[in-house]
Amino acid sequence: MFTLAGVDKRYGSTVALDGVDLHIAAGHRTALIGPSGAGKSTVLRMLIGLEWPDRGQVRFDGEPLRRDALLEQRRRIGYVIQEGGLFPHLSAGDNAALLARTLGWPRERIRERLEALSTLCQLPVDALQRFPAELSGGQRQRVGLVRALMLDPPVLLLDEPLGALDPVIRHDLQAQMRELFARLGKTVVMVTHDVAEAAYLADTLVLLRAGRVVQEGSARALHDAP
Ligand code: ADP
Ligand code: ADP
Repeated sequence: MFTLAGVDKRYGSTVALDGVDLHIAAGHRTALIGPSGAGKSTVLRMLIGLEWPDRGQVRFDGEPLRRDALLEQRRRIGYVIQEGGLFPHLSAGDNAALLARTLGWPRERIRERLEALSTLCQLPVDALQRFPAELSGGQRQRVGLVRALMLDPPVLLLDEPLGALDPVIRHDLQAQMRELFARLGKTVVMVTHDVAEAAYLADTLVLLRAGRVVQEGSARALHDAP
């Protein structure tokens, strides 16, 4: 689904990625793990064209990621960041509907899709009328999920999706997300610094350290490694 080939990325004198070769298979749930600053978010942001390699290539579905085809490619990728990444001045529903409206979906189709996804993501329907600041952190996260799923993309990218939540809510949402991922059967790539969460939600783990992939394998194999 995604391939990174010989990818380098620097920010000034900081080396964020150093020769990353990585293949992310379709249908898998992959977690990028590793200490803070290892390059996890940079990899994820590259998959959706929010960052570009200094050297090397990113391919999506066999095609190089291209600036001029980015919008088309992004429609096939749902992207969720911490706290949902919602616009504060738009209601939750308007946030979620933004992309579909831009694409000219009829009002009725948007309403139906929002309803179905609210149910799927266990978000109370009246939450969609509220502004992000009026929702709990967990609800904002669910709105972020609803927004990312609007166009039914085959791929879901999640950057520390539960990072801002308190432990009890986080635990609940982990269980719901696990069930959701299993039901949707999408290709999922997530970033987390929590190895237990990664092993719980993903089937493949990729360990990054100082901008390099240092280990890669099934959740079980990494767990059993010495
Ligand atoms: P992780 O997600 O594993 O915590 P990141 O991919 O966010 O790591 O960052 C990798 C390295 O690149 C870190 O040293 C970070 O400080 C640096 N970095 C990331 N984004 C930027 C940026 N926009 N400007 C400057 N440095 C950055
Ligand atoms: P910018 O480059 O200024 O962030 P974008 O066109 O990338 O603007 O995105 C506009 C809004 O739509 C952002 O809030 C972004 O998070 C959201 N968005 C873009 N692509 C997707 C996607 N594939 N899935 C979900 N939300 C998306």
